[in-house]
Amino acid sequence: MKPVLRIVLGDQLSDAIASLSDIDVERDVVLMAEVQAECSYVKHHAKKLVLVLSAMRHFAQSLSERGVRVEYVTLDDPDNTQSLRGEMLRAVARHRPARVVATEPGEWRLSEDMRHWQAILAEKADGQEVEIRDDTRFFARIQEFLAWARGRRSFRMEFFYRDMRRKHGFLMEGATPAGGQWNYDAENRKSLPKTIVVPATPQFPPDKITQEVMALVRQRFPNHVGSVDGFTLPVTAAQAKRTLADFIAHRLPDFGDWQDAMKTGEPVLFHALVSTSLNLGLLQPREICDAAEAAWQNGHAKLNAVEGFIRQILGWREYIRGLYWLHMPHYAEKNFLGAKRPLPEFYWTGDTAMNCLHQAITDTIDHAYAHHIQRLMITGNFALLAGLDPDAVDDWYMAVYADAYQWVEMPNTRGMALFADGGIVGSKPYAASGAYINRMSDYCKNCVYDVKDAVGERACPFNFLYWDFFKRHEKALAGNVRLAMPLKTLARMDAAKVRTMQDRAAAFLDGAYEGRKTLLF
Ligand SMILES: Cc1cc2nc3c(=O)[nH]c(=O)nc-3n(C[C@H](O)[C@H](O)[C@H](O)COP(=O)(O)OP(=O)(O)OC[C@H]3O[C@@H](n4cnc5c(N)ncnc54)[C@H](O)[C@@H]3O)c2cc1C
Ligand code: SF4
Repeated sequence: MKPVLRIVLGDQLSDAIASLSDIDVERDVVLMAEVQAECSYVKHHAKKLVLVLSAMRHFAQSLSERGVRVEYVTLDDPDNTQSLRGEMLRAVARHRPARVVATEPGEWRLSEDMRHWQAILAEKADGQEVEIRDDTRFFARIQEFLAWARGRRSFRMEFFYRDMRRKHGFLMEGATPAGGQWNYDAENRKSLPKTIVVPATPQFPPDKITQEVMALVRQRFPNHVGSVDGFTLPVTAAQAKRTLADFIAHRLPDFGDWQDAMKTGEPVLFHALVSTSLNLGLLQPREICDAAEAAWQNGHAKLNAVEGFIRQILGWREYIRGLYWLHMPHYAEKNFLGAKRPLPEFYWTGDTAMNCLHQAITDTIDHAYAHHIQRLMITGNFALLAGLDPDAVDDWYMAVYADAYQWVEMPNTRGMALFADGGIVGSKPYAASGAYINRMSDYCKNCVYDVKDAVGERACPFNFLYWDFFKRHEKALAGNVRLAMPLKTLARMDAAKVRTMQDRAAAFLDGAYEGRKTLLF
């Protein structure tokens, strides 16, 4: 009997992946391929490449150990065509399968390519059928999200999240939310006390497979951002489960309280560190939400922490994915504020006198990780205020974070951080001055700039850039009721002060692009 050729992509490393659901291990062949095209379409962080390639190799090994026939094409295989389509065609020629079965890719670019596979194979002698199955690892199928969004005037995350809570029964008491409220953010997001002790996170020293991949990445991608050294991320489902268990035991109880806080040298704080495993498929969203809910039910964690955490996975992650598929491919071109400045060099080095940016970027380069508020309110906020080109900013976020895949990176970057989508993801730009950064971090006390100053010699750049941003976009943002306050304050501000801040902003941005590290005037 002819085999079925089953394709497993690098972020589909789940036993429950749809393309394997009806596998006949006696008959079928699983194709997994490491290809240059996927490794280099942006300069992915060296640790991200190690993560994906090592996790792929471990997953292939676990399938083989269970008797599955896996055909694994390594990056340095001399016959590797270095594209997924090329490897599918080679495998089809080798095995002459009855048909090809794949799971819907997470990215538009690959999804479009896969849709052509059927036509390409139809021209060959055997003309195999290509079956592309839904990715069932999310709470909401893409079609379900599209149906939810259709005909709605406002489809904010909060309403989607409530529907998901009702449908999947998380933190529900009958038809009402546990504790009587849908959202406990009012109790969350405190600033960090000086004496806080941050729990250590699990580290997974590289085994033989990972070490081989580290050598490969070191040799083939010497110009990519970051280093393979110090790689300790989870690369198997068992390691990912240990990371989750550690988070539930030691950090979830404080997750809500310190969710938005930032501290020098502590990129993780009380965050879960599960995004890399979730996005690869080593963890499933349901098992994470089940574990968090159980921690509330058995009294280990309070409702504000557990609700805040479940909202990230059941709400934000699913909603972001839905919006990506709803708005692609046009989403990738959105630039509502007409931003066009190139990305300053310090985004790749961390070499800037602004300590908040220096810390967030250094954490990013060292670990291929920064937590949500560093991404949104430091690097994202600067990119928004400085008017950086969304394409360049997208490429940076795609490259530097180990958990970055376009379906989740792009709506967060273009939408949430840059407001380039004009209000699809968020109802207002997340613009903030130095006061917010000072309240939520310890960065300002070690900065050459004065966070309390907006016009003087040592004025914090986030302050004058903030007002310069609102002045520049006064007209475009005028109708936004959520911005009534800053716009009203700007209108009342002394005109000379506004002009000084605009001058400061222009001089600062020119200095930034001349590559000067110290940007004092
Ligand atoms: C500009 C920007 C770019 C981002 N790029 C990515 C990305 O490429 N990949 C990615 O997975 N996340 C991205 N995020 C969302 C979020 O910052 C990361 O998921 C989170 O920092 C991962 O760390 P954690 O697992 O410790 O998360 P926690 O803070 O502990 O949250 C738990 C989980 O909730 C989910 N989650 C939380 N917020 C979001 C969100 N806004 N969108 C989607 N999922 C969310 C993630 O799966 C995360 O693992 C981005 C956010 C911003 C502002
Ligand atoms: S003073 Fe301004 S630039 Fe310096 S760390 Fe604080 S917010 Fe950042």
